Amino acid sequence: MDTILVVNAGSSSVKFQVFEVEGGGGLRRQIKGQMDGIGSRPRLRASGPNGDTLADRAYQIEAVADVPAAMSAAGAWLRDELDIKPIAVGHRVVHGGPDHAHPVLIDHAVVTQLERYAPLAPLHQPHNLAPIRTLLNFPTLPQVACFDTAFHRNHDALADHYAIPYQLHAEGIRRYGFHGLSYEYIANRLPQIAPDIAGGRVIVAHLGSGASMCAIRGGKSVESTMGFTALDGLAMGTRPGQIDPGVLLYLMVAKGMSASEVQDFLYRDCGLKGLSGISNDMRELETSVDSRAAFAIDYFVYRIGLNAGMLAAALQGVDAFVFTAGIGENSVSIRARVAERLAWLGVALDPAENGRHAGKISRSGSRLPVYVVPTDEELMIAQHTLALLVNRQSPKRERAS
Ligand code: ADP
Repeated sequence: MDTILVVNAGSSSVKFQVFEVEGGGGLRRQIKGQMDGIGSRPRLRASGPNGDTLADRAYQIEAVADVPAAMSAAGAWLRDELDIKPIAVGHRVVHGGPDHAHPVLIDHAVVTQLERYAPLAPLHQPHNLAPIRTLLNFPTLPQVACFDTAFHRNHDALADHYAIPYQLHAEGIRRYGFHGLSYEYIANRLPQIAPDIAGGRVIVAHLGSGASMCAIRGGKSVESTMGFTALDGLAMGTRPGQIDPGVLLYLMVAKGMSASEVQDFLYRDCGLKGLSGISNDMRELETSVDSRAAFAIDYFVYRIGLNAGMLAAALQGVDAFVFTAGIGENSVSIRARVAERLAWLGVALDPAENGRHAGKISRSGSRLPVYVVPTDEELMIAQHTLALLVNRQSPKRERAS
């Protein structure tokens, strides 16, 4: 059985999925797993296509002390116990910088180039690259990097710039945008789900621990709420979203915080967690009776509404609105509250359809249709990886396209 391994490595966990390559080039998910608690209480959990448990085992802390060790342990389990020997590995890499508008086959030079973007995504990029480096020890195994920034790389210059001296833009200080693999997956799904609007103007709200919104026209990203880093835009689990840069200067100058303290503050202590003082987890906030939890949710919803207005202006009108990711796919009440804020744009929600998590949750007479589309970034990565592999094997086809 030919398989593709998809790896999404973070600071304390390595998530992976295995897809079988079917005869006609389709992909079927076979295994979903993760090694979490890296460096603290390592544990491998994995399930099969029907959710059946394939592994649930603890490891000694010394055996899985870092991300490469986690990759090695998970790889050994796949190889030795399940006889999985992937024909290629696709990696999620958060930052592709200004040059990568598409996924890329990885070699040492590509890794060296991608290391330069680590300061732009300090919590993600180094961990994304660690298992890639480990697997470069197997030079015959093709590896593909799929970037969260790539889908946004064709933005108009107006959407790509900050109002700073041009030289800094040339050096790479740009509005990159993130969650691109999720938005690309949604853009690819829309022609099947809603063919009448798929070529039109769509706002997609990716609401997870990280949250952003994207304006899509004709299947292509034209604007994102995120910019140079994944800090901008909506309030998130632990990140503040849009904040006046003057606040950061104040924290450093008046409160004496160092650059690394400000970085930790922005990535770990703000957003829903900072506002509520309770949790970064929307489920906990929704069940809390604390008024600060309610305020954090109010703020989250308010900023989604504001940003929808901004993206509607970028698109000069909207033909559909899509919810996705953990909160967007699962929270009936957040969707209802966002829909209320979008009434001026023509949204009329169908509460029953929303309550049963239907694919389309607006009423039939709603001027702006609203959809819930579960995202699948891993499948997107597997598709990209397979496509690059096929192209590599038939260079004539690549030249012709
Ligand atoms: P990420 O992939 O960025 O870690 P997810 O897309 O998994 O994040 O989203 C995680 C968020 O989704 C958390 O805030 C979690 O509380 C929220 N979430 C998941 N299920 C529900 C639910 N049923 N109701 C409300 N929020 C939910």
